[in-house]
Amino acid sequence: MSLLEVDGLTKKFGGLVAVDDFSFDVEEGEIVGLIGPNGSGKSTVFNCIMGLYDVTDGSITFNGDDITDDATHEVVNKGLSRVSQESNPIQEMPVAGNIKLFTLPNSIRSFYGGASEEEIYEYAARIDIEDKLHEMPSELPHADVRRLEIAKSLATEPELMLLDEPFAGMNQAEIAELADQIEGFREEGMTMIVVDHNMGGLMELVDRIVVLNNGDFLAEGTPEEIAENERVQEAYLAGEGL
Ligand code: ADP
Ligand code: MG
Repeated sequence: MSLLEVDGLTKKFGGLVAVDDFSFDVEEGEIVGLIGPNGSGKSTVFNCIMGLYDVTDGSITFNGDDITDDATHEVVNKGLSRVSQESNPIQEMPVAGNIKLFTLPNSIRSFYGGASEEEIYEYAARIDIEDKLHEMPSELPHADVRRLEIAKSLATEPELMLLDEPFAGMNQAEIAELADQIEGFREEGMTMIVVDHNMGGLMELVDRIVVLNNGDFLAEGTPEEIAENERVQEAYLAGEGL
């Protein structure tokens, strides 16, 4: 049994088929890259897994449990979390409060009013923003806002974390640092799916890449295999390159 099994996932928005009969599995401990040109359906797959979109057809199984029709808070309580492509911190709250809010969906912690200050410090420290806990999100540089989004996700104690374009807008040094941190999460036992529109940050990081194109499964393989795959290269020709 794989940790995550997505089977025949289909998502339609009216007449638009955003994801079409798409299947892939993720094994425990893996880092899987999910790539595809812009608009190919990557974020929609994440939204379906997280219970944010109703699935048109297909099934999603996590730890052997059918989560296809679960609400988001149920999915989060079962050990899944997602870092959105867009950052959306609450601007009126410092970094610490933004992280604390994400410890509330857990029913036991919610009873106690969320995580303690020490726990929040630990989440921030795992992504190196522990010295920013009292700053407001608007005071942070872009890369730290993205790190805050990851800290919020860590605060739900995920077993499987979905990262949607985590490297977007970062410079090379920031990308390398974040890739190291993602490796560190794996060493701590986390499984991850990293979405990107091209292979840039993923080449050294992921075990395996799954390629989506126009909502369809296009290819799967090691980063080296995908980099050389002609069908993948063709799919990227119109856009900004693989
Ligand atoms: P990607 O993340 O690969 O760039 P998306 O999953 O965001 O692609 O989008 C896939 C397709 O689904 C696009 O055509 C997009 O316009 C459409 N889509 C995504 N979300 C919605 C929505 N909430 N309502 C209507 N169409 C949507
Ligand atoms: Mg997207």
